[in-house]
Amino acid sequence: MEIEVKSQSDNEIVFIIRDAEVPFVNAIRRMAMVNVPKIAIEDVNMIKNNSAMFNEVLAHRLGLTPLVSNMDVIEGLPLPEDEDYEKHPGIGFSLIEEGPKEGEETKVIYSKHLISSDPKIKPVYDTIPLVKLKPGQSLNIEAFAKVGYGKEHAKWMPTTVCTYKQYPEITFNDDANIDYDCANACPRGILKADRRSKVIKVLDIEDCSMCKSCVRASQQNGLNYINVGYHNNDFIFRIETDGSMSPKEVLLQACDKLGEKAENFISFVENGG
Ligand code: SF4
Repeated sequence: MEIEVKSQSDNEIVFIIRDAEVPFVNAIRRMAMVNVPKIAIEDVNMIKNNSAMFNEVLAHRLGLTPLVSNMDVIEGLPLPEDEDYEKHPGIGFSLIEEGPKEGEETKVIYSKHLISSDPKIKPVYDTIPLVKLKPGQSLNIEAFAKVGYGKEHAKWMPTTVCTYKQYPEITFNDDANIDYDCANACPRGILKADRRSKVIKVLDIEDCSMCKSCVRASQQNGLNYINVGYHNNDFIFRIETDGSMSPKEVLLQACDKLGEKAENFISFVENGG
């Protein structure tokens, strides 16, 4: 198996896996989505909330606010499978805010107003709007964050995108007349008709969604000039995170979890089943 990173940023990684099988690639995808530990607000005490937003909705918004959850900050915190998980109170947060100053109509309360008891574990972004307060309205909320897994709730899912597709393949039928018009059917603009060189150029094969609009257009033109398929064992994998941890960390932890499960299975078989 070969892996090649195509692009990488703080929140996104795209890489090509060659010579792999669908079940293996899908296992990595599922581990990344549902089995990587992440921190999220779990318990919320509404001491005061006379805003227009219901307690349940506000608590839900707090739960879905991404918190810094890299490996360094999770280290030492109990995981759901640990004995002391239930007893651990969690990382405390407070949200104590008053409505707008005199003369102003509303005040928007953002994620930056959520004050953490641990400076390392705080909202990833400062500017997520949580609730609007009108004059005379106020909040006094305490919340507790815990480590969890995406398989329990989406708020513990570090990935916002975690997908793969088989590597596209575009071929042209040399026996047919060149159908320049089929290039116009591509919604992604990756086909370019070059009448001077008498070819259709594929500008970025990896961007092809395999929608086959070009194939249908060519069939309608009665030319059947273009074919779209894919490589069975090559994949383009994309992970985007909510910023709580880097995509590289997600991938490393997903592989560790998959390895752990394989090890457990091996010991089970070795010990006689
Ligand atoms: S399959 Fe869709 S995305 Fe790919 S080249 Fe054809 S029209 Fe464009």
